[in-house]
Amino acid sequence: MKVKLSCDEATAICSKNQYGEASIADKFRMVFHVLFCAVCRLYSKQNTIITKCMPSVNKDVVVKKALKIEEKEEMEIKIKEMVE
Ligand SMILES: [Zn+2]
Repeated sequence: MKVKLSCDEATAICSKNQYGEASIADKFRMVFHVLFCAVCRLYSKQNTIITKCMPSVNKDVVVKKALKIEEKEEMEIKIKEMVE
């Protein structure tokens, strides 16, 4: 089984997951990717993954990064724009 995903692949699996189409292996790889991929913790696209699929991880990431309130608000706006 291919464990390492590209950021795009992780995003694709998240989309599948929203429609209940992701396999257990897909979900595992997605979680693994987001936990270990620093890039995915920086981009709003991947923040969407985290928010949709792993709310507890997202909270943890926000705390670790110690985002300013304005940055958090900006991120929330970006995420909302992407979700809508
Ligand atoms: Zn990534």
